[in-house]
Amino acid sequence: MAVDLAHDPDVAALAERTARFVREVVIPVEEAHDGVLPSEAARVELQDAARAAGVFAPHASPEFGGHGLDMRARAAVFEEAGYSLLGPIALNIAAPDEGNVHMLERIASEQQKARYLAPLAAGDVRSCFAMTEPAPGAGSDPDALATTATRVDGGWRIDGRKWFTTGADGAAFAIVMARTTGVPGDRGGATMFLVDATNPGMTVGRHIPTLDESLFGGHLEVEFSDCRVDDDAVLGEVDQGYRYAQVRLGPARLTHCMRWLGIARRAQDIAVAWAAGRQVFGSRLADLGMAQAMIADNEIDIAASRALILRACWELDRGAPAGTEVSIAKTFAAEAVWRVVDRAVQLSGGRGVSGDVLLGRFLREVRPFRIYDGPSETHRWSIAKRTVGRHRAEQAR
Ligand SMILES: Cc1cc2nc3c(=O)[nH]c(=O)nc-3n(C[C@H](O)[C@H](O)[C@H](O)COP(=O)(O)OP(=O)(O)OC[C@H]3O[C@@H](n4cnc5c(N)ncnc54)[C@H](O)[C@@H]3O)c2cc1C
Repeated sequence: MAVDLAHDPDVAALAERTARFVREVVIPVEEAHDGVLPSEAARVELQDAARAAGVFAPHASPEFGGHGLDMRARAAVFEEAGYSLLGPIALNIAAPDEGNVHMLERIASEQQKARYLAPLAAGDVRSCFAMTEPAPGAGSDPDALATTATRVDGGWRIDGRKWFTTGADGAAFAIVMARTTGVPGDRGGATMFLVDATNPGMTVGRHIPTLDESLFGGHLEVEFSDCRVDDDAVLGEVDQGYRYAQVRLGPARLTHCMRWLGIARRAQDIAVAWAAGRQVFGSRLADLGMAQAMIADNEIDIAASRALILRACWELDRGAPAGTEVSIAKTFAAEAVWRVVDRAVQLSGGRGVSGDVLLGRFLREVRPFRIYDGPSETHRWSIAKRTVGRHRAEQAR
């Protein structure tokens, strides 16, 4: 099967502009703030600069002020944006807003697009995606979903507790996954709801202290208690939430891989610059075999991640479900990015764990990626089940 890896000249030019913007405008802000955006005002300032540089919202369709890139083109541009921890938020392609824009474009009604998607794509508001719940609720296993939405006069009543809702602090609205059929433990049916943060039934609670800090708005607990919404708050169709979650999660898993691949490349660049200049035992560090092995293994991990991401993007762009390809790319990239940053720290010696370079910050930021968007074990389990299923089907023929 032929896979064309060449990017269209317009996409290559946008990726190049993004790389320049990230180096000249974003990295100075990132380095001044240890990779953590200090305020909402700083977000607005970076996004204004991205607009001026012509690199804002590459994922959104032109109707909503974006460049309308397909998944393969996103791979080129998002990797460049991800070269800095703050590049994605500058371009308005950080999680969870980027995934929410993608899903709203595909599922929302015209009225919902005008009310929620337009300001989100423009960077005027932020959003969050509330699916995961404290145990025994939904986590790796979505069928454990315990938050309920029940029919009431003129709409719905949502009750339940969510946590790890990224970006909830300051978000204008949440996309909430709630059970509308069945009981926790069976699949039943789930529905997605658009809930305004001003709704008195939605309470944004504790910031969960985590290893990572660069995703803007933090990771929060959110409670829905007698939360009343109208029928027009239903996103798509009732009981189709699990299907829509796949519309969001497949691409969102890949875009996370793309952004973190940018950080892996940055870590490698920092480590190689050090190894090329550092003299140890009468030799350049970069000329010693064990250091060369780490440099080469980093290149291999980066190249292999990029190839797997592109392969899965290509499948999605041609309309295939790509579940296995996305799981393979996500599992490999999440683990490869960790290995690359870890080796970069090692190559850099004491400087690697110091606050003088951002490698320690990168290490903390990439570690949770092996857990969110599906832990590695969940993806391996699903890849294995599909593989064995295919084998059985072949045997039965
Ligand atoms: C930084 C961060 C940001 C997040 N942001 C969001 C967000 O914005 N919105 C949202 O809804 N959720 C978010 N999450 C939640 C995330 O999606 C869940 O943490 C993830 O799905 C795992 O669920 P869990 O934490 O309940 O772990 P559990 O379900 O308790 O799983 C624990 C461990 O079990 C293992 N495991 C899982 N499946 C299998 C298997 N089949 N076989 C063997 N072992 C297995 C894995 O090692 C897994 O880590 C975020 C999480 C983190 C860490």
